[in-house]
Amino acid sequence: MEELASGWLAVGLGVSVHTLACFPVAGYGDEDQRASLLPDLIGGELLGAYCLSEAHSGSDAAALATRATPTGDGYLIEGGKAWTTHGGVADFYTLFARTGGPGSGSHGISCFHVPASTGGVRADPPERKMGMSSSPTAAVRFDEASVDGRALIGSEGQGFSIALAALDSGRLGIAACGVGVAQAALDLAADYSRRRHQFGRAIGDFQGVSFLLADMATQVEAARELYLAAARSRDSGRPFGKQAAMAKLFATDTAMRVTTDTVQILGGYGYTRDFPAERLMREAKVLQIVEGTNQIQRMVIGRHLSGRQ
Ligand SMILES: Cc1cc2nc3c(=O)[nH]c(=O)nc-3n(C[C@H](O)[C@H](O)[C@H](O)COP(=O)(O)OP(=O)(O)OC[C@H]3O[C@@H](n4cnc5c(N)ncnc54)[C@H](O)[C@@H]3O)c2cc1C
Repeated sequence: MEELASGWLAVGLGVSVHTLACFPVAGYGDEDQRASLLPDLIGGELLGAYCLSEAHSGSDAAALATRATPTGDGYLIEGGKAWTTHGGVADFYTLFARTGGPGSGSHGISCFHVPASTGGVRADPPERKMGMSSSPTAAVRFDEASVDGRALIGSEGQGFSIALAALDSGRLGIAACGVGVAQAALDLAADYSRRRHQFGRAIGDFQGVSFLLADMATQVEAARELYLAAARSRDSGRPFGKQAAMAKLFATDTAMRVTTDTVQILGGYGYTRDFPAERLMREAKVLQIVEGTNQIQRMVIGRHLSGRQ
């Protein structure tokens, strides 16, 4: 993920979101669902999208309003999702919808695997974003979309805990993307500082520039070690939610700082499209927002520290 993002974040994030969309079937699907769906999902034959956010419920995801009404042998889905990465191009939507009654809160949410070909499913035109133009982000509508009972992943009411578990792991992917973007910017800045001369010297010889580079490099290394440590905890079956939130927070804030400083080191050229510095800066920004804003990461970390999670 880190390598992909250092070349092109849209690809890194695409893989990260696809993995997020596969997570519920892999972790909570029954044997039939896993056998029939996983080979094409993990083999990359089918592209996935993850539909949690809605126009009026972003950070407060448990307030989502899309409904899935039981019909006897399946569900009728009605509502709209916002900000769906791969909306309109995905082959399937991993959807979180309300099966509980009013006031059911986070316990009334269920998870569904909805093929994009389902009648009543359609995407709006892609959002016009600051960056990541090659990664389509669109609202997706579900107008009386009918799915059979096998579309339900896990049990009714389990959806929100599935969504949070997926995001815990997804944050490691976003952190890795942040480090990739930051490393690409650092490499560009260091190279430029050796080649650009002012006052008869390479600008990297000036302490003002070399200290900036030293801080950037230190932050990138620290961010990498943080997400790798969280990933190792996950691999060995230890709790990793707090570390994943810390890694996402630190790595993506680092990406923002390092890419901004790279534009500064490139001077006027950094502000042009002749160099990738400005693209990296625009890419870094979205990482502070997706899969829980960095304010939400602080909330998650705070809850762990105060014993509320
Ligand atoms: C390019 C892109 C791709 C995306 N892809 C997907 C996707 O594939 N699937 C999906 O489900 N979603 C996706 N999202 C949505 C993304 O997860 C949300 O934008 C994000 O969770 C924030 O929600 P919001 O935009 O509604 O902001 P809001 O929740 O309205 O937040 C607005 C501001 O208030 C702050 N805030 C909110 N609550 C608190 C609080 N309690 N304490 C402190 N600060 C707070 C936030 O940090 C933010 O700064 C995508 C977004 C973008 C931009």
